[in-house]
Amino acid sequence: MLAAVIAYIGLGSNLEDPITQVKSALQELAELSQSTLLSASSLYRSAPMGPSEQPDYINAVAALETNLSSDELLSELQRLEDVHQRVRRERWGPRTLDLDLLLYGGDRINSEHLTVPHPGLSERNFVLIPLFEIAPELILPDNCPLAELVKHCSQAGLQRLAD
Ligand code: ATP
Ligand code: MG
Ligand code: MG
Repeated sequence: MLAAVIAYIGLGSNLEDPITQVKSALQELAELSQSTLLSASSLYRSAPMGPSEQPDYINAVAALETNLSSDELLSELQRLEDVHQRVRRERWGPRTLDLDLLLYGGDRINSEHLTVPHPGLSERNFVLIPLFEIAPELILPDNCPLAELVKHCSQAGLQRLAD
């Protein structure tokens, strides 16, 4: 069996009651096989990236301890997106649920269908700030402290929701 690793998952939704979508996705992550949900950030509201004629997003980040391989975990995340009836249309277009594998332990992965760390991680405030909330001491695989990236990231368009 593989040793357990800590994976970080970025959640996002901007359709069909996004707050409920994200909360139920967190519940589903807690129920994933061979995995334990360690923590989840607050929910955040963010302005859309890409096409701007779409509703604001609700985002969060979760930490999962898992014995699934990175490929198995990606498949599970995509299965959960399907459960939420995500329809894939344009890139960065509106969606009921997006689950991105941000980090998988200290691994760097570059396969046809998986890039880890997630390429958007270091420049998206709606990823960096919730991640920092649950993992303030995190060091990224390139040895950059998360705190450094957060220090330089703008809070523009991002709002933490009250519990
Ligand atoms: P972005 O990845 O820029 O946030 P997106 O989340 O809207 O955009 P998707 O449509 O969810 O993009 O995913 C497109 C493809 O990205 C997926 O089919 C998947 O194979 C691939 N992919 C590559 N790396 C990752 C990753 N780290 N997490 C999730 N999907 C990934
Ligand atoms: Mg995404
Ligand atoms: Mg995605």
